[in-house]
Amino acid sequence: MNRKGSDAETHRSGRAGWLRAAVLGADDAIVSTASLMIGVAASSASKGAILVAGVAGLVAGSMSMAVGEFVSVSSQRDAERADIEIERRELEGQPRAELNELASIYMHRGLDRELAMKVAEQLSARDRLGAHLRDELGIDPEALAQPLQAAWISALSFGTFATLPIAALLLAPAVLRVPAIAGLSLFSLAVLGAIGAHLGGAPRVRAALRVCIGGSLAMAVTALIGKILGVSIG
Ligand SMILES: [Zn+2]
Repeated sequence: MNRKGSDAETHRSGRAGWLRAAVLGADDAIVSTASLMIGVAASSASKGAILVAGVAGLVAGSMSMAVGEFVSVSSQRDAERADIEIERRELEGQPRAELNELASIYMHRGLDRELAMKVAEQLSARDRLGAHLRDELGIDPEALAQPLQAAWISALSFGTFATLPIAALLLAPAVLRVPAIAGLSLFSLAVLGAIGAHLGGAPRVRAALRVCIGGSLAMAVTALIGKILGVSIG
């Protein structure tokens, strides 16, 4: 995240920060909660037991999402801060070399030497550190990684989408429990996959298919294990 070059890309990746956390939380919630519930259902457990499994999965998953995102985005933020500190010191220690470095970046992007030097000088006069962060390191100083935001967004997203398989359990008749949980979950995954692909400018059908196949595999494997355990224990 936030490691891209041009301004337009930076804007997109700034939004991608929370969007990524939200989509990750949603996909994970549907796949893991539905699989958990189908696994328990396959062991011929009661509706109450499947419900407890689903709710426990919702709570545990939200917490685990929050912690995981917080840790991962924090380390990204630490790396950004360290990069900024190194750049600040380099700018103080060797301003001339740094100015040439900036100019050579613009030359690589297609400006001639004179114009590149002029651009480097003018941008440096306004905000020297900012120019180096953006064009040398690809860091937007206004859009640094936000660990707390990523944590609560992914937890909230997980908690919200984990209610889908739980709702399927509550609404479906007993014989249709597993197909209802699996069907609603796969449908939601496909829709989410298509929306995510659409926002990212990627092919929608391929993204929907990919997430559906992954989700089906997860549910099938958990169902199989639930069935085997249900037979051997019960
Ligand atoms: Zn520099």
